[in-house]
Amino acid sequence: MDASPDFVTLNYGTRQIATSRFYLARSPVFARFFASNPAARHMKIFGDVDEVALGHVLQYLQNDMVYPFFWTKATGFDYALYHRVHQQAEVLEIWDLTDWIQDQKYIGAIKTITEEVIEEIRPGQPARSVERQGDVELQQHIVTKVRYFHVCPRGTITHRTQRGIPILCGHKCTNRSDYDPGHFEEVPYVEVVTVTKRLVYDPNVCKRKADVDESETEVHEVAPDE
Ligand SMILES: [Zn+2]
Repeated sequence: MDASPDFVTLNYGTRQIATSRFYLARSPVFARFFASNPAARHMKIFGDVDEVALGHVLQYLQNDMVYPFFWTKATGFDYALYHRVHQQAEVLEIWDLTDWIQDQKYIGAIKTITEEVIEEIRPGQPARSVERQGDVELQQHIVTKVRYFHVCPRGTITHRTQRGIPILCGHKCTNRSDYDPGHFEEVPYVEVVTVTKRLVYDPNVCKRKADVDESETEVHEVAPDE
């Protein structure tokens, strides 16, 4: 199992990980340690360790440097955990991770997309069911509205124009005693306004960009800390 000479175990708190030196050496602190302890295969971090936060930092080093994403729909971003991870990353001098957390870049990973659809239905008719995809928050508002139509005294269908549109009735209509330009036929209708709100996770925000300034691991010959 332990074939690779670059394979090390690291104990911290109650946890242990087995990983490669290559990943750990992305932290200058580990890189310096390896430089001064080239034969070290088993390492232990002494003292009080925030093992949850450190676990996330180590995962970041191992996981092709994908930034940690702490968010749930119910509770939102876990700022407290980001703060703890920031502290651990600072200790291990992983500056691109501390910068990423400091600048709250993670906030951009959740985007809200709002869509509004207005559908007209006849009074009493049920609204068309709205298709839901994924985790969608849906709000429907039902608005009753009225359209007004000009009433032609002769009942000519083409004269039945909506209020606001010039009247088409000619003299044959307007000369009649029952002609009333102020009388309108009321036609109620219902509008269903459906607002869908969708939360979208953009994983690219958590990907470390290749052009990020690599906090070059400085390997020094220093006295072993242990
Ligand atoms: Zn008319």
